[in-house]
Amino acid sequence: MNFEFTDEQKLFADSVRRFALAHLEKDALERAHDPRFPFAVAKLMSEQGLMGITIPEADGGQGGSLMDAVIAIEQVAAVCPRSADVVQFGNFGPIRTFAEYGTPQQKARWLPELLSGRAVMSLGMSEPDAGSAVTDLKTTAKPDGSHYLLNGTKVFSTFSPDAALFLIYVRFGPGVGGIGSVLVERNTPGFVIGPPQEFMSGEQWCELHFDNCRIPAENVLLGPGGFKKQMAGFNVERIGNTARALAFGRYAFNKARAHAGVREQFGRPLCEFQGVQWKFADMAIKLESAQLLLYRAATNADRGLPSAYETAVAKAACNQVGFDVAHEAVQIMGATGYSRSSLVEYCMRRCRGWMIAGGSVEILKNRIAEHVFDRRFDQRKRHADAAE
Ligand SMILES: Cc1cc2nc3c(=O)[nH]c(=O)nc-3n(C[C@H](O)[C@H](O)[C@H](O)COP(=O)(O)OP(=O)(O)OC[C@H]3O[C@@H](n4cnc5c(N)ncnc54)[C@H](O)[C@@H]3O)c2cc1C
Repeated sequence: MNFEFTDEQKLFADSVRRFALAHLEKDALERAHDPRFPFAVAKLMSEQGLMGITIPEADGGQGGSLMDAVIAIEQVAAVCPRSADVVQFGNFGPIRTFAEYGTPQQKARWLPELLSGRAVMSLGMSEPDAGSAVTDLKTTAKPDGSHYLLNGTKVFSTFSPDAALFLIYVRFGPGVGGIGSVLVERNTPGFVIGPPQEFMSGEQWCELHFDNCRIPAENVLLGPGGFKKQMAGFNVERIGNTARALAFGRYAFNKARAHAGVREQFGRPLCEFQGVQWKFADMAIKLESAQLLLYRAATNADRGLPSAYETAVAKAACNQVGFDVAHEAVQIMGATGYSRSSLVEYCMRRCRGWMIAGGSVEILKNRIAEHVFDRRFDQRKRHADAAE
């Protein structure tokens, strides 16, 4: 067991940090408060080799590991938290599921645009009546000659106001076995994108309506029975969510640490009060322990997909720690931390969302409990006759 980065990883981290300081530090505050996807950053990152880190070189990626992508998130977020969303998009989000399961034709058609930072992709999984219970989704894909007709509604999709391509979970037939996914381009007739709505974080999302939206059969990513594979791909998205939560918590920690070293009250810097010191000690313990869980999940996945259990443990820990630390950092910085001219309150708001997004903390704990007891706990209400 080795708790140190390899020399290669150290060099990579250093190069990403230098890139972030040179190109991303200056406008970090404005970028955080701009709800639109930062395409300029995506193009710069593409040139720097930070898009498709885990995607094979044959598909236009970098052929690196999941841990490399985690390092990129950490280094970018330490300088410009909002730009870490671009690392997420280019490495962890639906693009990764797409690269894993797409046909050569699908990849040739869309990956170059996505990996160059010219286009962004959005994931449509959640529906008005299917949130945590995602397998209750109702959006249908019915065969229509050489095409499929889509009908249904998706909500909360990240990057939906800007996305050119959407990976949509659909129902080809009944039950979990009937679930698969399709790719839908923005301007497809019958695909209606509602006006932007806003999360607490300032991020925007649009309702996605499919009204007899006709897509060619070549746009099917995973047919019936694809749900398990999709969730395996989704564990990568969870690692990106996990890494950002922890990195945003660390960003807030570093800002609060610097503040406590210079801000004086009662004639002394804040860091000389034991009440403040212990807050930092508690935050450091939380950050360090959560980081080990994140690194375990990412390292064990190597170039493949991470384990569902290790991902659940890491995400539940990092989501909670990221939020707790950012929240405490706001308190330590007083009105300065609470002000929108510091990015600390932004980090706190973003971390709050990740406790809900991509598998809420509660749903992850259900998954962990199943591992603990080595049995499945069905969350569904039993029918009266079945219970008797
Ligand atoms: C910032 C953000 C970004 C998002 N991005 C996307 C995206 O890109 N694409 C997409 O498809 N969706 C996205 N979502 C939606 C997200 O996947 C859902 O919010 C999530 O699945 C929870 O569903 P829900 O909000 O409907 O809450 P519900 O499922 O209604 O849950 C409400 C509460 O009940 C708890 N709960 C539910 N069931 C159980 C249970 N069995 N045991 C214990 N507690 C339970 C939940 O943990 C939660 O606290 C995003 C959400 C957020 C906040």
